[in-house]
Amino acid sequence: MDEMDISSERETIARESAIRAAARPLDPGLPGVCEDCDTDSPRLVFGLCAPCRDVRAKLARLRGEA
Ligand SMILES: [Zn+2]
Repeated sequence: MDEMDISSERETIARESAIRAAARPLDPGLPGVCEDCDTDSPRLVFGLCAPCRDVRAKLARLRGEA
């Protein structure tokens, strides 16, 4: 394994732990009720249905966070 492999491996580990830290108790991609709008969704990510994730992404962009 050369230097590049080692640094990209470290990056992957850092990214994965950041994703895990951001995750709520509910696993990504599970069916359930949205935390935001109480809609029964076949696929919630971090507790949010697709429209709510969309709105949050747009708000984050407007605030310059993304
Ligand atoms: Zn929702």
